[in-house]
Amino acid sequence: MQDGPGPRGPSSPPQPPDIGAVLRGREAEILEQLRRNAAAAEPPSLDEEIGRLTRMDALQQQQLALYARRRLETQLAQIRGALVRVSEGSFGRCALCKQAIDVRRLEMVPETPFCVACQTRLEDEGRR
Ligand SMILES: [Zn+2]
Repeated sequence: MQDGPGPRGPSSPPQPPDIGAVLRGREAEILEQLRRNAAAAEPPSLDEEIGRLTRMDALQQQQLALYARRRLETQLAQIRGALVRVSEGSFGRCALCKQAIDVRRLEMVPETPFCVACQTRLEDEGRR
């Protein structure tokens, strides 16, 4: 598909309505999850009373919390990147191939910087 001389011009790819508000809502959600996660990611203290949880369980919980935290932080960075693209007018354009990203995809994962084709290629390369 070629960029036609649409009313918005090739520099403004189609995007879901109120995308800035959607992204800020997601940013607030992630910040809240990070805040709750911070307590769980504290290393279990050696002399702390941990009730029925064994120390092994506590360590495992901490690992899960750290893993979740890394995922949240990555998502937060992507959302903030998307907010920058919204303000620059480049939101909705793939960061790699520069094609417009499918609006349905943007509604599901508004923070994604890539179209489906590029995302798939990146994941394939990551698996190799
Ligand atoms: Zn792409």
